[in-house]
Amino acid sequence: LRQDLQDKEKLRVLGELTSVFAHEIRNPMQVVRGFLQLLDDSELPGKKKQYIQLSIEELDRANGIINDLLAFSKPTDESRQRTDAGARILRVIEMMHSYSDRYQIAVKRDVRSEMWIHANPQKFDQCVMNILKNAIESMPDGGQVTVCCGPSKSGMVEILIKDEGVGMTKEQVDRLGSPYYSLKESGTGLGLMVSYQIIRDMKGKVQVKSEIGKGTTVSIQLPGVI
Ligand code: ADP
Ligand code: MG
Repeated sequence: LRQDLQDKEKLRVLGELTSVFAHEIRNPMQVVRGFLQLLDDSELPGKKKQYIQLSIEELDRANGIINDLLAFSKPTDESRQRTDAGARILRVIEMMHSYSDRYQIAVKRDVRSEMWIHANPQKFDQCVMNILKNAIESMPDGGQVTVCCGPSKSGMVEILIKDEGVGMTKEQVDRLGSPYYSLKESGTGLGLMVSYQIIRDMKGKVQVKSEIGKGTTVSIQLPGVI
């Protein structure tokens, strides 16, 4: 219970700080990114080019963190609409293409379309993307990720994201979704916090099954709409 209260307090402070600062920080970052891109000239010697590209990548990473925080600071959503979960998932997989390539991951998909849910499409995308990203990152030496979307036995829309990666202990699984919980060297522990919040907002459920050295399956159940 105490841990729970601490987490709640952290979330509250996080939400307040975020909306105040995120936009202010992002503007100068965009300016710097723009100048870096102008400097990124094909004539440059390799080292300089590499430093510029690394700088752009790090800026993008910081921007990703800001996105996660922003999504979290506005948990209740006004702009929900009838959304095809299957179609959105296929788009997200496409968007993550270069990322999965970099990790040498084949993304196998068994995704039905016309899987209608009530959701904010951008938030839904972000939720799936954060979970898919973790699945990819769990296999540093490559492998296969499987993404399924279809009707569950109980009439919900079910999404499965399965990897054959490092896996987690039960204790680790239990802590998923709490703020700043990350076992990665440069992780933020915000991805799943955001995803879990988005799933809660959609009145959905999430379940994680994992085994060390074997892999992880994240299953999401969302109420369908006609
Ligand atoms: P981050 O990815 O920035 O570390 P997340 O909130 O996305 O933050 O994930 C929190 C932690 O949960 C990760 O650091 C990782 O240890 C663990 N985790 C999440 N998904 C998986 C997965 N599919 N396989 C193994 N570990 C995972
Ligand atoms: Mg993550």
